[in-house]
Amino acid sequence: MAEMFYDDDADLSVLQGKKVAVIGYGSQGHAHALNLRDSGVDVRIGLAEGSRSKEKAEAEGLTVRSVADAVKEADVVVILTPDQVQRHVYTDDIKPNLKPGATLVFGHGFNIRFGYIKPEADADVIMVAPKGPGHLVRREFSDGRGVPVIVAVEQDASGHAWDVAKAYAKAIGGLRAGGIKTTFTEETETDLFGEQAVLCGGASQLVMYGFEVLTEAGYQPEVAYFECLHELKLIVDLMIEGGIAKQRWSISDTAEFGDYVSGPRVIDPRVKENMQAVLKDIQDGTFAKRFIDDQDAGAPEFKRLREKGASHPIEETGRKLRSLMSWIKDDKGTSDYVEGS
Ligand code: NDP
Ligand code: MG
Ligand code: MG
Repeated sequence: MAEMFYDDDADLSVLQGKKVAVIGYGSQGHAHALNLRDSGVDVRIGLAEGSRSKEKAEAEGLTVRSVADAVKEADVVVILTPDQVQRHVYTDDIKPNLKPGATLVFGHGFNIRFGYIKPEADADVIMVAPKGPGHLVRREFSDGRGVPVIVAVEQDASGHAWDVAKAYAKAIGGLRAGGIKTTFTEETETDLFGEQAVLCGGASQLVMYGFEVLTEAGYQPEVAYFECLHELKLIVDLMIEGGIAKQRWSISDTAEFGDYVSGPRVIDPRVKENMQAVLKDIQDGTFAKRFIDDQDAGAPEFKRLREKGASHPIEETGRKLRSLMSWIKDDKGTSDYVEGS
């Protein structure tokens, strides 16, 4: 059984005496910063010159500084810019200004695991990675709940890195739901695998193929949308509540029998082999290199793929149908997805 932490296992006061700089105020950054502040931690935000996020942070009453100035006064520096820019921000603005013995906090292990950031030997290096999107990390906290986190220490120069890591996990609400002890390697490789094979890549492709098969066979796109995309949430909610068994209990016997006979026919053993190949590319750094090299070249492959995804017919059908379902709120704002913030 994994080693788990809950609120009682952590002491918030470890963090309450320290100055924390959160670098980046995006999906995770805003959630960590606001949850830390509400947990009584002294937070400032570090952003680049001309940052689009500055106004949002200031509207919440947070102090915004340049990355260099925020880092200079901080005992704990939380790196929550996008993974592909972290090594530049680290080299240019964090490393030259970091207090000796400061703690570096990551929300994902990518840059440490693949060697893009190599911290000084006197720094504590920890990770508190929420297992959910940033907007939920904030919403759940505000509602008195929390998103589970996984917690790791890569470097414990001070001998107190675990105390800070647990206090941090508690301060953002993660230990209300539970924290699991992990390593940077396990977090990075499983996170990339999960998002690529199952959660984002796998689920999106499954939904799009389902929609294509039905519409190409002449069925109405609106019916195909409800069937292959909208209902997915209802099924997944049942799985979260009671495992795969609960969704099989709730659906009709017809659906359950179809699940058993057709599931393995659609997702056959070749899919498992493909997943193993995806995992291998993650483990040996092939995926990381492809992503970072493309980003460094101005992201031509990323932009082409993003455009291709956005032009899939399911998106047009979905936009129309969602606008007719008043309870579905696109509170992030559709323009954000299109611009790809
Ligand atoms: P976002 O893309 O949402 O973060 C963008 C923020 O970083 C913005 O405030 C942006 O400012 C700022 N930023 C961008 N470039 C720089 C720079 N050069 N200097 C200073 N600030 C900069 O990131 P995420 O929250 O998605 O990801 C942050 C980390 O959290 C990553 O390591 C990610 O893997 C991890 N993570 C993310 C999850 C998620 O839910 N998204 C889930 C779990 C982990 P501006 O507004 O000016 O562009
Ligand atoms: Mg993840
Ligand atoms: Mg991820």
